[in-house]
Amino acid sequence: MSLHTLTVAQLARGLRAREYSAVEVATHFLARIEASQPRLNAFVTVTPELALAAAAASDERLARGEGGALEGVPLAHKDIFCTDGVLTTCSSRMLSNFVAPYDATVVTRLKAAGMVTVGKTNMDEFAMGSSNETSFYGPVRNPWDETRVPGGSSGGSAAAVAARLAPVATGTDTGGSIRQPAALVGITGIKPTYGRVSRYGMIAFASSLDQAGVLGVTAEDCALLLEAMSGFDPKDSTSVDAPVPCYAAEIDRPVRGLRIGVIKEFFDKGLDARTAAAVQAALEVYRKQGAELVEVSCPNLPLSVPTYYVVAPAECSSNLSRFDGVRFGYRCKEPRDLMDLYKRSRGEGFGAEVKRRIMTGTYVLSAGYYDAYYLKAQKVRQLINAEFKRAFAQVDVLAGPTSPTPAFAIGAKVDDPITMYLNDIYTIGANLAGLPAMSLPCGFVDGLPVGLQLIGPHFAEGPLLAAAHAYQCETDWHRHVPPAYA
Ligand code: GLN
Repeated sequence: MSLHTLTVAQLARGLRAREYSAVEVATHFLARIEASQPRLNAFVTVTPELALAAAAASDERLARGEGGALEGVPLAHKDIFCTDGVLTTCSSRMLSNFVAPYDATVVTRLKAAGMVTVGKTNMDEFAMGSSNETSFYGPVRNPWDETRVPGGSSGGSAAAVAARLAPVATGTDTGGSIRQPAALVGITGIKPTYGRVSRYGMIAFASSLDQAGVLGVTAEDCALLLEAMSGFDPKDSTSVDAPVPCYAAEIDRPVRGLRIGVIKEFFDKGLDARTAAAVQAALEVYRKQGAELVEVSCPNLPLSVPTYYVVAPAECSSNLSRFDGVRFGYRCKEPRDLMDLYKRSRGEGFGAEVKRRIMTGTYVLSAGYYDAYYLKAQKVRQLINAEFKRAFAQVDVLAGPTSPTPAFAIGAKVDDPITMYLNDIYTIGANLAGLPAMSLPCGFVDGLPVGLQLIGPHFAEGPLLAAAHAYQCETDWHRHVPPAYA
């Protein structure tokens, strides 16, 4: 049997029924990772010894009829999550020697559910990027077309799941980094409500926006993982103290009567016509299932890009000030004095995009410009929040495309940051407002996947996952596997 064709739900059931062992499953995926690595570069670190030891421990628990809900199922973590005793680089030279001394809460919780970590996935440096090209470890390639990007910043996690190198992976989403790569490689991804998942041990980029989530093949798999990783954590003051629903139990909720707001501004001239057609066709599927489609206008939403590219750099310039070559991470050779140590460690340790963000952020926070940029951005952020609030008074879910185009060629946008930033136009709004949002495969353009985006009100992950699941019961876009990895 081809173990990599099974979903998380199927793998968990098969493991519990002892149809195959956790060691067999881990061995199968580890071999696929190794074979794909020269082509896709989806991983920064693969941990075969740890994975096989964890799998053997899972097998013992399964043999005793014990273990967690996801016992023995393999998992890849974005290299932004601290993993005890394992290199945690954030795909930066700055952390290229950093072995984390503890596990992130997300890592701890998924371990407790019985999952087996196979490795750490490549990403844009410090999660800054939309194409995975800012990684110190080189770009990740899209398994559908290796000359194209997989999206970013969770590009390694996305490519790994799309190529079935792992049945599921974690990601983080500050401005679209789960949804956009999920769309570009044809898988399902969810960014939950801000505060739903603990960020303890998740290396910070922009703290008012960062949130952890899941990249998987199906909405059902995303539900299983999200449930296991969500919930209050006393170690993260931004995590919300609210009960975690059983997402898997809610997933069969029918869409009949669901009011879907189609965001007018998302179908603007920047949207590729065939991508638009695929998204419209997906909305038609919902209509046929009994959902009501309502046009909704959020006129300030297009301002989300300039707003985000003030707020996110401002917060990143503060968060990344901790990387100074003193306590951990990269340190320059033979510093002359303390100032030289700071300057050269940071100068040599950070890549160009990270430096651009730090400089932009420092600028917009500086005394003379704070009001004109940072304060203004915070005000626009409030306007966008209010627009979403108004929209959700009318509808249950908002829908639109995830990305304006399918995957673009590696190298096509690296020298043009503005064009690169505009890629995030449809995803950033949900981060500014802290809303849960997901992307699901809804078609192909010239053999490249297209994603449908769904955005829900705060803490509506359950209904969102159910809406995605209903679509996946009716269509098979999410079942397509890149031919080279079938
Ligand atoms: N592409 C966006 C950026 O470059 C979002 C990244 C993210 O969500 N981490 O900032």
